Amino acid sequence: MNFKNVMSIKENIHHIKALLPEHVTLVAVSKTKPVEDLLEAYQAGQRIFGENKIQEMVSKYETMPKDIQWHMIGHVQKNKVKYMAPFVSLIHGVDNFKLLEEINKQAQNNHRTIDCLIQIKIATEDSKFGMTPSDATSLLQSDEFSKLKNIRITGLMGMATFTEYENQIKAEFTYLKTVFDKFKIQNSEFKILSMGMSGDYPLAITCGSTMIRIGSSIFGNRNYS
Ligand SMILES: *Cc1c(COP(=O)(O)O)cnc(C)c1O
Repeated sequence: MNFKNVMSIKENIHHIKALLPEHVTLVAVSKTKPVEDLLEAYQAGQRIFGENKIQEMVSKYETMPKDIQWHMIGHVQKNKVKYMAPFVSLIHGVDNFKLLEEINKQAQNNHRTIDCLIQIKIATEDSKFGMTPSDATSLLQSDEFSKLKNIRITGLMGMATFTEYENQIKAEFTYLKTVFDKFKIQNSEFKILSMGMSGDYPLAITCGSTMIRIGSSIFGNRNYS
């Protein structure tokens, strides 16, 4: 039996929130889900939504209430940054300088500063994006980076390997937390460590996560067909 599909979206949100420490922020990952489902979450008090496709996020932004914070959690294509630049509140998956440059340019065009997280590759799978800690360090210390005035790097994001071996997931989260703590010393704006999804968020919180991205445990399984 899958209780997650029996309980309502509202109950799922209340259930997850009841167990969250105060310093952990919940991002409701609503990718592929219809606006009615998002509205149910909204009515349950949820105000932060995560999407992984820019076009889908833009169309949901246009129909949903305007006090929502929209997070882009997927891999970002440079040529589409302009569509979300007017409203996106946090971009989780930044993993190269060219992308940051484009986000900065589009933020400037919209007279705003856009918050971003650098994605660090912690998983063993090739399919997962992200920078190495040393590449991220070089980027943050570069002259080119210091010239980008319309972006703010507020932390790191990572995705653990999809595996049943909890020890491996734990090691990957712990590693990311160590990297985060090091970066934090040099960057006063670092405050967000985005790690943890439906399958592994309790462990991520134990390992120091401050932001979890939960999809299926709120909205039920996704149907990609
Ligand atoms: C889809 C997705 C999630 C949510 O996954 P669930 O397992 O459904 O909670 C979290 N983070 C990223 C980057 C995703 O693409």
